[in-house]
Amino acid sequence: MDKDFYVDLLDQIADGVYFVDRDRRITYWNGGAEHITGYSAEEVLDHSCSEGILRHVNDAGTQLCLHGCPLAAVMRDGQARSAKVYLHHKDGHRVPVTVRGQALRDETGEISGSVEVFTTRIENAFADLRVSDTNGALDPVTGLPPRRFGEIHLDSLLKAVQEETTTLGLLFLDVDHFKSVNDTFGHRVGDEVLRMVAQSLANGLNRGDVPVRWGGEELVALLPGADRQIVERTAERVRMLVENSWIQKGDDQVRVTVSIGATVVTAADSAEDALDRADRLMYAGKTGGRNIVVADRGALTSKAAAPIRGTSIPWQMPGEVDEAALA
Ligand code: GH3
Ligand code: MG
Ligand code: MG
Repeated sequence: MDKDFYVDLLDQIADGVYFVDRDRRITYWNGGAEHITGYSAEEVLDHSCSEGILRHVNDAGTQLCLHGCPLAAVMRDGQARSAKVYLHHKDGHRVPVTVRGQALRDETGEISGSVEVFTTRIENAFADLRVSDTNGALDPVTGLPPRRFGEIHLDSLLKAVQEETTTLGLLFLDVDHFKSVNDTFGHRVGDEVLRMVAQSLANGLNRGDVPVRWGGEELVALLPGADRQIVERTAERVRMLVENSWIQKGDDQVRVTVSIGATVVTAADSAEDALDRADRLMYAGKTGGRNIVVADRGALTSKAAAPIRGTSIPWQMPGEVDEAALA
């Protein structure tokens, strides 16, 4: 069978597949990669994956382009590797995927590049829903359930907390300095940014969690079954994913951060009590400098690295690879 047959076949599988040469230039990009990332082959071929396109980040907020690129590691020693990462979607938000890297060799057996296969591992039922498929049930800007849905769901979960059949975490998010996005880039881009934040939120949540567009640039998430540790870990992951989200507009990367109040709901709480407390914690994050999670026991310290800004970053050839970042 000829090469065209295999290329055709690769193009049709749902997983993302791309090839890079030793300079990490993308030489092949299949239909699955187009679907998962939003980038067409035409947009990425001949570019480096680190050039403001994918920029994998792991759960701990480590920038893999700098510290643990799976493909760099594969090209260094020829050993296949896999990692759980969040890739950057063209619409700005982060998508959880499992990536597997394998070396490509030329006829002499020398490593000439590598192939990465990636599979989505989206957990949350509210991530990536099509507004057009839901008969007006979802908020059209963010694609999330609207406030009324959140209120009904919160009331029912609160009863379950009182009956001690579940625990419940509550996150309250407000976009930092959102007005300046509208002022600088216009309301339409503002809407795209809101959707980006909402989708990074949904993609950072666990399976049964419920993200809600509360109003304006405020989002809420209900976390049934969560204890203090899960609430804090989830809130920090969402904060980090939003910080690592961006939309490319010409030469500008439009980015925002969020301040998050994170609380564990108690049996003594009314819905208003719980929401007010989460809102007050969020507000403490605003006065504390923004881009931060404030939980019941105080402001959390983030161990995540600062995001890489701009479209070009230095790319050291496979040499130093922090294997811990890939674990
Ligand atoms: P802070 O960090 O203190 O939260 O600053 P901020 O600029 O985000 O706060 P402020 O509440 O002053 O601004 C919120 C802005 O959000 C004002 C409003 O125009 C904008 N906004 C609310 N809903 C939408 C929307 O659906 N689309 C767009 N584009 N903008 C919206
Ligand atoms: Mg606000
Ligand atoms: Mg705001």
